[in-house]
Amino acid sequence: MGNRTDQENRRRFLLTTAGLLAAGCQYNSGKGPLVRGGVARPLENQIEPPAGPSERVAAKGAMFAYGPLVMRETWTRFDLEKNDKDKDKDLKYMSGQRVIDVKKSKKKLPLNNLPNRISVHHDAMEWKGRHDFSSARERLRTIQRYHMQKNWDGIGYHFAIDGRGHVWQCRPLQYQGAHVGGENTRNLGILVMGNFEVQHPTQNQLKSLEKALQIFHQAYKIPGSRIKGHKEYASAATLCPGKNLFPKFVAMRNRIA
Ligand SMILES: [Zn+2]
Repeated sequence: MGNRTDQENRRRFLLTTAGLLAAGCQYNSGKGPLVRGGVARPLENQIEPPAGPSERVAAKGAMFAYGPLVMRETWTRFDLEKNDKDKDKDLKYMSGQRVIDVKKSKKKLPLNNLPNRISVHHDAMEWKGRHDFSSARERLRTIQRYHMQKNWDGIGYHFAIDGRGHVWQCRPLQYQGAHVGGENTRNLGILVMGNFEVQHPTQNQLKSLEKALQIFHQAYKIPGSRIKGHKEYASAATLCPGKNLFPKFVAMRNRIA
């Protein structure tokens, strides 16, 4: 019965998000987000402690506000539970079509070509239900699948922040991201999960975003003037990262020298 409920929840999640992905940050036409209901309301602050068994695979990466970086292989491998050793298998598994291996991508940057700017996004998918490990993982998989259906090298963002404030590794940093049209060179992309046109980020997300910005600012010597919300790019016709996140993000940026 438990399994059946999980499957049903997952099916509903996928059905819900499939439609909303059309309003994802890269493709918003400027006509406004394609979301149901326009009333801003706070997220349900049901934040689960990191206790799921899957979370044991979180590696000892950089420390963020709520713990270590959740490494990419934690969530990109659909068959992790089956102890499949082929790390790249998920890349083909997810889209069902040929994808470019990130390791062979022509977009690989020289090691000395570090990020020199940061862009912040939301995914324009309203978060419903609990903020837990498995929901965040399913969301990232949905986004990755969507990006790969465009023949991109996997998910376009470099990092993502879930409702609990945990930071997830997405595309490895040595690869150019795909998150701001025409402006991806040396541009570190951070996704904050949710639709902040219609809901509010959690306090954990805000705290974690600020900490992450500080860490990247220090690590790559990126000044506040080079940290932007997606909609600040002249080429972007989007509301991303949403009216309920943007002013708070600007305040964070202003606190960075
Ligand atoms: Zn965006």
